[in-house]
This record gives sequence, structure tokens and C-alpha cells, in this order.
Amino acid sequence: MKFTIAIDGPAAAGKGTISKAVAAHFTFAHLDTGLLYRATGRKVMAGMEPLQAARALQPEDLEREDLRSAEVAEAASKVAVIPEVRAALVAFQHAFARRDGGAVLDGRDIGTVICPDAEVKLFVTASAEVRARRRFLELTASGDATRFETVLADVMARDKRDAERDTAPMKAADDAVLIDTSELSIEAAVAKAIEVIGARLA
Ligand code: C5P
Repeated sequence: MKFTIAIDGPAAAGKGTISKAVAAHFTFAHLDTGLLYRATGRKVMAGMEPLQAARALQPEDLEREDLRSAEVAEAASKVAVIPEVRAALVAFQHAFARRDGGAVLDGRDIGTVICPDAEVKLFVTASAEVRARRRFLELTASGDATRFETVLADVMARDKRDAERDTAPMKAADDAVLIDTSELSIEAAVAKAIEVIGARLA
């Protein structure tokens, strides 16, 4: 059975958590497409050219422990504006999306560009303040001494770059179901996603 679930939205809106929970619930495979851009950005930080880095990506590059930092996120969003880099990552995402047994892909352009024919599209969002607060709490819990204002500025700068780029900007597909997690618990957001997907599968 081929069934693609596209989950898009800005950083720290909860799409990663929702994607993992939904994939576990329906026993679908899950691809966090942000990791493709993060792994590419990480190679650029180490001195590679962006396109060469994207073309050289290997599955084990997505497993690196150091892809979650703010520096790598910024490097990712910088390589993500380059059309040739995005093009180099398309085939892998297409193959993943149409694998047998169902697939969940989360990112910024899955419902609009990568999988415009996805059976279900969700756009998960939350206010910039709520998202920055979540990221700030995660960072301080892991021992990173940062200020809330710095995290908020980073979140807003990344949103702007992702939403305003010319190629595959972050936006909700016309037929996406919107889930705003600003005032929703994770459990409620996951339940909403499962309800929408279950109705489409039935
Ligand atoms: O989702 P995550 O925060 O890991 O993504 C890191 C960066 O990768 C995003 O800010 C965005 O610039 C880029 N990205 C993208 N398209 C995707 C997934 C991520 O441009 N489908």
C-alpha cells in the first residue's frame, strides 16, 4: 500500500513530535527531511561546496549526533535557499514517499513541492513566541546558556528566510489541514492529526 502523509510547518511547531507519533500509530516509515538540509549544512560548515555536499549525502550522515544545534539549523536554512541543492535532494524524498507500507515526511515544502499528491497534508504551526519558548526550554535543559530573546530572534530569522525564499518557500498547501499548537497539548495535537489521517484511510 502506498500512502503519503505530508507534514509541513515552521521550526518548533511540533511537527517532528506529531510526525513520529503518527508514524508509530499507523506503522508508517518516517523521514524528517530537515535532516537532509542539516546534514548538507553540516558538511558546508566543514568546508564543502553546498551542491557537492548535497550530492555526497549518505544515509549515515543523517544519523550524526551534532545536527540539532542552532548553528547547523542556520547553515541548513542557508543551503536550503539554493535551488540546485533542493533539486539534488528530491529523488531521495520521492522514493521514500512512495515506498510500500506508507510514509510520513515532515519539512517545509512536502505538501506543496515534493508530494503535491500526498493523500494527507497537515500544516502544523504556532506563534513565534510559543515556538521560541519551547526551543529555549529545550536548549537550557541541555545545558546551553542562551537568552530567550536570542532564541526568538533566531526563530524569526529562520522563518523569514524559509518563507521568503524563491524556490519552494515554506507555506501551507491549499488543501492542507491546519493544526495550530500554540494552545494545544502535544496529546491533543497528535489526536487531531490521527483523526484527520484515520478519516482519509477509512
Ligand atoms: O525542520 P528543521 O528545523 O530541521 O529544518 C532545518 C532547515 O532546513 C529549515 O529551516 C529549512 O531551511 C530547511 N528545510 C527545507 N525544506 C524542508 C525541510 C527543511 O528547506 N523540507
